Amino acid sequence: MASPSPSAPRTSIPRMRPLLLGLSLLLCVGFFSTTIISYQVSRSSIRQSILTQELPLTSDNIYSEILKDLVRPVFISSMMASDTFLRDWTLRGEREPMDMVRYLKEIMARYGAFTSFFVSESTRAYYHPSGLLKTVRDGDPLDAWYFRVRRLQDPYEINVDQDLANHNLLTIFINYRVLDYEGRFLGVAGVGLAMGSVRGALRAYQERFGRSISFVDRTGRIVLYGNDAGMQAGNIGEVDGLRDQAKKILAEGAGSYQYQSGGKTHLLNVRYIPELKWFLFVEKTEDEALAAVRRTLYVNLAVCAFVTFLVVGITGLALSRYQLRMEELATTDKLTGLLNRQSLDVLIHQAMTRSQRSGAPMSVLLADVDHFKAINDHYGHLTGDEVLQRLAMSLRERLRESDTVCRWGGEEFLMILQDCDASAALLLAEKLRIAIADDQPLATLASGLVTVSIGVAELTPKESVEALVGRADVAMYAAKAAGRNCVRLG
Ligand code: GH3
Ligand code: MG
Ligand code: MG
Repeated sequence: MASPSPSAPRTSIPRMRPLLLGLSLLLCVGFFSTTIISYQVSRSSIRQSILTQELPLTSDNIYSEILKDLVRPVFISSMMASDTFLRDWTLRGEREPMDMVRYLKEIMARYGAFTSFFVSESTRAYYHPSGLLKTVRDGDPLDAWYFRVRRLQDPYEINVDQDLANHNLLTIFINYRVLDYEGRFLGVAGVGLAMGSVRGALRAYQERFGRSISFVDRTGRIVLYGNDAGMQAGNIGEVDGLRDQAKKILAEGAGSYQYQSGGKTHLLNVRYIPELKWFLFVEKTEDEALAAVRRTLYVNLAVCAFVTFLVVGITGLALSRYQLRMEELATTDKLTGLLNRQSLDVLIHQAMTRSQRSGAPMSVLLADVDHFKAINDHYGHLTGDEVLQRLAMSLRERLRESDTVCRWGGEEFLMILQDCDASAALLLAEKLRIAIADDQPLATLASGLVTVSIGVAELTPKESVEALVGRADVAMYAAKAAGRNCVRLG
């Protein structure tokens, strides 16, 4: 059976390629740029919120914890400095040292102090809950604090030191000036307390919120830092990425900074705590905060890629279907589904070139329905149409795959027979003529009236299409003249 258009070119996909490529490009650029822009916007807003809200808030909270921790020891020390027992005992010549030791022990036990002390100005004796510790000496660096407090204008100073046994344990020493009833300097008393709530706050912030907290003194030395995250002991001038900014940070005393270290972006908030004479550094790496946003970015990109793929795929499919349909419409006859005359023009030229090149014979048949006008007139145009459809089907069924059949005119059909000389073409034409005359469905449609006259012509060397078809036409008319329902060779 011959296909309606055996060698009609199918060029839909290659022609659509630039269009689909353009569409993919457009979608990709559109999707990806909006995704990346929205990622950048969320990134900068997250960064801003960390720098302007999260870190300063953490810093404020820690500062208030520090103040809370400072209030108690200051109160206890102030009470000691105004205690009449302590002053009277001193003024009376420090006669029973054990009384003082017992007093200090009592203070320590009652207030849960880490330590308590009294240093007398007249004897320079350092009293401690465990006894008389030593005598403070001017010039000894360990005793420098006493002579500093001695000269102090304020009633007390806060000295924060680390417990050497455990560098995470901050100890606050309140050095309170003790004055006699006339305001003369009697010595220094006070307590040392562990900064419990500060420590708790530090731990909570580090563990719960992934913030790293450290304290830095005015020389840039990191005096207290978190367990593992963030900075380690040393100087901020030695921290990677912070080196260049260290001086500026210490000079400014407060602000927000960013630095790169270990392949991560660190966001840093700094404030100066005058009570401790230390800087509080609160920092957070941007990467943890951005993990969710980055995950969203990847999901968005995947969705974009998928949607692009889907849109381009569906568009390509729809376009190629549409194009095929358009091509079909342009090359086929609507009524019979055979090739139309325009498309046959191309094919017959191809076939002739091939035959002339290879030397293989080629013939054409031109079949015309006999008295078709009468069939139309008698049975009506619709039946006439059905006759043409049945005829087309019947011809197609009886031709080889390599042969082509087209609707040449109203009720005329042209067939191209490859590798077929005149005698074979005549035989085939005769077979077709008989088959149509005997065709049962055609007989049913028009009571045995449907017959065809066929003109046969074999291609001669260097012959034109027009000449070849013209000869077939003449032969067909010869068949008509011979009484119709017969075959003639042109
Ligand atoms: P002849 O044996 O000499 O060929 O007689 P004829 O009646 O077939 O010749 P003519 O060429 O005069 O008539 C052809 C008729 O075919 C005229 C036209 O109305 C009819 N016809 C052409 N195309 C169609 C079509 O698509 N459908 C129908 N029903 N009729 C058509
Ligand atoms: Mg005709
Ligand atoms: Mg006719």
